[in-house]
Amino acid sequence: MSVSNKLPDHKTKIVCTIGPASRSPSVIKELIRQGMNVARLNFAHGTLEKHREDIRLIRSLSKKMNKVCPILVDLPGPKIRIGKLFTDPMILKKGERITLVTTGPINEPSRIPVDYKKLPENVSKGGTIYLNDGFIQLRVVEVTDQEVVCKVVMGGPLLSHKGLNLPKAKTLADPVTEEDLDFVDFGLKEGLDLFSLSFVERADDLIKVREFAAKRGKGIHLIAKIERGEAVKNIESILKVADGIMIARGDLGVEIPIENVPAVQKRLIYQSNLQGRPVITATQMLESMTENIRPTRAEVTDVANAILDGSDAVMLSEETAIGRFPVETVRMMVRIAKSIEQQRHTLNSVSQAYEHLKTEIGRKKISVSNAISLNVMEALRVLKTKLILTPTHTGTTPRRISRFKPDCWVLAFCPDQPTRDFLSLSYGVFPIILEGRDPFQYDHLLAFIKEQRLAKKGDRLILTEMAAPGQVGGINSLNFITLT
Ligand code: PGA
Ligand code: MN
Repeated sequence: MSVSNKLPDHKTKIVCTIGPASRSPSVIKELIRQGMNVARLNFAHGTLEKHREDIRLIRSLSKKMNKVCPILVDLPGPKIRIGKLFTDPMILKKGERITLVTTGPINEPSRIPVDYKKLPENVSKGGTIYLNDGFIQLRVVEVTDQEVVCKVVMGGPLLSHKGLNLPKAKTLADPVTEEDLDFVDFGLKEGLDLFSLSFVERADDLIKVREFAAKRGKGIHLIAKIERGEAVKNIESILKVADGIMIARGDLGVEIPIENVPAVQKRLIYQSNLQGRPVITATQMLESMTENIRPTRAEVTDVANAILDGSDAVMLSEETAIGRFPVETVRMMVRIAKSIEQQRHTLNSVSQAYEHLKTEIGRKKISVSNAISLNVMEALRVLKTKLILTPTHTGTTPRRISRFKPDCWVLAFCPDQPTRDFLSLSYGVFPIILEGRDPFQYDHLLAFIKEQRLAKKGDRLILTEMAAPGQVGGINSLNFITLT
């Protein structure tokens, strides 16, 4: 593969949700050109037919443009949603009565269909129901077998298929629904292997999806969306089985007190970095750009801080799915990322995860690849380095280096597409498949670097190397190379 002799401007990965505002060839092309690293298809919306069209389009354009742009299948999980409204948008006014209906036709504007049959048993008179990421708040006044009558406490415009939250309810529904598994099946048949699961509560939810794929003979990369209080509590066990996490702040900000979101976000980023798992910070990052050409100062600062705290990736939702300025939003994301990345070493010189892991040395058994990643960082402190080269089987080595957010690019030489695609979520990693060459052969790598003009004579490179070529695991040396 050709690298088109230029590494990207930004090391933070940008995930864009594809929707009506972005599913045309011209917009997708522009999103890729401007810096989209991963396209997210939200399976809570749209038909399989539409998703299939999107998949074909993204694939053919990224291939034509010679860019890596994997597709993330976002599984809705047990998220409760309202159905198609009688009028769209529906305007809810304070004090007004509306009825949530779990079955039957919707023939009046004040009736809102809900796709969750068990709603009436999970609410009681006086309880609170949130709609649309908490923007709309309802108080329950009457519950019958199939309906919940509510009074609007906080009103506003409501669009069809928006989410409904019941933060007090324990387990809402089966954590992984039949529909999710159908979507996994669909994704696998389309040749996709990157999934995210909404409303995860515990590790078992992820295991269920993984086992379903395994039965079909497929390995997958699975991101746990952290958006329930339970998931925050169970994060350690979730991180053991998830390949990465997404801080899904939209639902999280309704499921836990909104003022706790910043601290939870910081802790989740840190915990994920420590495990060398990519972490995506999501939702409302540049929300106002859904309508406006410029973001607010608060949004710009939020994005920069999320990057500075150690996010691997930042995500755009409505901004690119239904917004007026999808391309401009990605361009803005790149500007913010570029600026903060160039200054991060002057703001917090070493990552917290790096300091933490260093203190573990000698106290706890530390794995070889953990030690290698620490050594790379140590070397970067004292040696001016152009690039880090990591031939890899599974992506673990480049991810373990990436978590410390080094200033120079990590070129990850991958054996296959799934490994390459998943590395598209890791900060500062440029994943490559070397066609017709063996990435575990030093001279092949250097020939490639020269050919692509990724470094010039006199530049220093750091290469992590495997002990015995062809053997999985067993990286055991660091090489310092001055290009001649
Ligand atoms: P959603 O997830 O867009 O699928 O709801 C993101 C979030 O909740 O923040
Ligand atoms: Mn969500």
